[in-house]
Amino acid sequence: MTTAQAPVIDATHDPALQSWVESANDPATDFPIQNLPFGRFRREDDADWRIGVAIGDQVLDLRAAKLIASNDMNRLMRLLPESRRSVRQAIVEGLRAGSPQQATFKAALHAQSKVEMGLPCEIGDYTDFYTSIHHATTIGKQLRPDNPLLPNYKWVPIGYHGRASSIMPSGGRFHRPNGQTRAADQERPSFGPSRRLDYELELAMFIARPNAVGEPIPMASAEDHVFGVALFNDWSARDIQAWEYQPLGPFLSKNFASTLSPWVVTLDALAPFRVPFSRPAGDPEPLPYLDAPANRAYGAVSIELEVWLQTAAMRKAGHAGDRISQSNTRDAYWTMAQLVAHHTVNGCNLRAGDLFGSGTLSGPLPEQGGSLMELSAGGKRPLQLSNGETRTYLEDGDAVILRGFCQRPGLRRIGLGECRAEVLPARPVN
Ligand code: CA
Repeated sequence: MTTAQAPVIDATHDPALQSWVESANDPATDFPIQNLPFGRFRREDDADWRIGVAIGDQVLDLRAAKLIASNDMNRLMRLLPESRRSVRQAIVEGLRAGSPQQATFKAALHAQSKVEMGLPCEIGDYTDFYTSIHHATTIGKQLRPDNPLLPNYKWVPIGYHGRASSIMPSGGRFHRPNGQTRAADQERPSFGPSRRLDYELELAMFIARPNAVGEPIPMASAEDHVFGVALFNDWSARDIQAWEYQPLGPFLSKNFASTLSPWVVTLDALAPFRVPFSRPAGDPEPLPYLDAPANRAYGAVSIELEVWLQTAAMRKAGHAGDRISQSNTRDAYWTMAQLVAHHTVNGCNLRAGDLFGSGTLSGPLPEQGGSLMELSAGGKRPLQLSNGETRTYLEDGDAVILRGFCQRPGLRRIGLGECRAEVLPARPVN
């Protein structure tokens, strides 16, 4: 077994590095030259998606810049970590201030405001985990006051297989789902629009290199199989969920829509923001197949997350929305490497472009809930908004915006961009 390497911090992370793309040097941009996230875009006259990298308010067409031969993102994701790192270095070389390649690269730039962003890759399979112990405990208290956290939680990363077909790119709109629900005081279910529509603040993780069926990925090489991360909103209909989830778990309460931010921030870009993985005193240590020295030393990552809510009334008034919660990925109970090792330990094979959702990332404090079910205490404590409106669950016309960024003293701040979508009224029931 090989020993995993420490996250590689090199010249591409140098905070003094500047780009000849002026907007990339703005301290407020999510996309300085130290970030370089990957996505797929198309211009008005394009039929097919192109692979691009965000730089300031521009997108660099990688093929036009002669850095890659094809626009197949899943193929690019399958590259060895060293090759992925070489692509990153080549992009930095062309975009840095004073680069002799400036003219070639400049011809491959497009304003982000002028292109359409799609899903970053073809997503084959999607698995959603449940890695926030704070979320699991708060939700558990609502469902089982005497026994909030089930006994397996601290031993096994909990997850279920989700549905990839309804994952849509940021900026979209979707209809409130119809479905079966049963009110607490009723014996029979009724059918109609969900009345408890919620969002879930999650981190998406993209699989890079595949493994063969029957060949588990050990902790030591788990991160070689991770391409990067994005923001993910796992829209959830709580009333449909409550009625359907036992005994096999979520189904129609989740698979009607999920929203993904367009830019995948690579593990290379995140290298300076890695932090130790640790467990609270008294909690069990992970079983050996989920444990590794590298994981203990820097298995977690510190990404600050925010949820913003913009109601239809706010939009009409030109109001950008309220920030309704904040949390950090470092509070997750399991790391990316542990999710990969666990998912494959039985021989399950992963493929390039597969997506793992982290599960709702809530912090330890009540105001750090990553869903309205937490922030409104299951609908019992309405959330007060700055314009006088209140919310328990989402109303038609509400837009939810997720944001994420990494910052540390002495380093250039990098961001994940935003993950936004708006709720439309339910379709009429026949
Ligand atoms: Ca979820």
